[in-house]
Amino acid sequence: MTVDLGLPEALPVLAPRRKTRQLDVGGVGVGSDHRVSVQSMTTTLTADVNATLQQIAELTAAGCDIVRVACPSADDAEALPAIAKKSQIPVIADIHFQPKYVFAAIDAGCAAVRVNPGNIKKFDDKVGEIAKAAKDAGTPIRIGVNAGSLEPGIFAKYGKATPEALVESALWEASLFSEHDFHDIKISVKHHDPVTMVRAYELLAEQCDYPLHLGVTEAGPTFQGTIKSATAFGALLAKGIGDTIRVSLSAPPIEEVRVGLSILESMNLRPRKLEIVSCPSCGRAQVDVYKLADEVTAGLEGMEVPLRVAVMGCVVNGPGEARDADLGVASGNGKGQIFVKGEVIKTVPEAQIVETLIDEAMRLAEEAGEGELSGGQAGGAPTVSVG
Ligand code: SF4
Repeated sequence: MTVDLGLPEALPVLAPRRKTRQLDVGGVGVGSDHRVSVQSMTTTLTADVNATLQQIAELTAAGCDIVRVACPSADDAEALPAIAKKSQIPVIADIHFQPKYVFAAIDAGCAAVRVNPGNIKKFDDKVGEIAKAAKDAGTPIRIGVNAGSLEPGIFAKYGKATPEALVESALWEASLFSEHDFHDIKISVKHHDPVTMVRAYELLAEQCDYPLHLGVTEAGPTFQGTIKSATAFGALLAKGIGDTIRVSLSAPPIEEVRVGLSILESMNLRPRKLEIVSCPSCGRAQVDVYKLADEVTAGLEGMEVPLRVAVMGCVVNGPGEARDADLGVASGNGKGQIFVKGEVIKTVPEAQIVETLIDEAMRLAEEAGEGELSGGQAGGAPTVSVG
């Protein structure tokens, strides 16, 4: 069996994308005609141009599509032109409180501006001017409504940040822009509770055709934030809702990008790269599956070629999974049967399983670089199993 590499269009998805307007965010298309993009936000002082550009370079290398930078002061606003010019990926300026920085960000050549109207003084009075400046410069605006900063009148009406309150706030703010014939808008309605967040985006998706930026705000440290984001984004992406995502973690932003990409890969919205299929282990295991899976994962870190590697702990499911993967091991009696492209190519002592798998993975990756790779899942990425 031969599997073509780099085959995003062949992967089955749970639902077609919800049809939206299309935006051009500094060369990255956002909307239903484009792939779901991954965003993150720098944690450096924006005014520190070198540190910010360094972090953007790291995020770019990790696969981030669009980066957001905070702009709380005049020094930060002054740094925007240099950052927007030198960043390898589009830069969105994140503006709270001060409308004058919206204009500064547009003038600086930022790819888009995120505003939270509930947090901007006299926003309603300024919409006309902002819409004109953004339209003249071709700069899209993200209306970012957050549970913690709802427009006071809407908060008073609902008493708390319900899904309906978030949506009413966002659509009201979007209507202010559309009254000025400005439609290059994407919207987010973030909440820290995934159930509220999902319901808000579902309601919003029914009531407008703007592209939607998904986020569970203040999702927490890596483990909790990953679970919350994966469940909420998964529920929405499974219905075709969501055009760009940001995983918010109390962790370095590069982790947000890794988690975001991984969520999209799991939903078949991005082609998979390395996939380790490893069993959870049980009383039948004849090797230390956790150690084996960790060592193989570490040994293959950074592999760009889609490869499925199966790591299985015994002979119950081991041979079947290992056969299905591009590369795999089924362990037992202190030995490992190594499978490549569905065939047993050798049996090695337990101590040599990891190095053998890594050697074979490298060989397959090289072959793949030359054009094709055999074995693995139909229409999908090569895989490695450990078990
Ligand atoms: S492959 Fe074997 S060791 Fe692993 S979970 Fe299944 S039965 Fe248990």
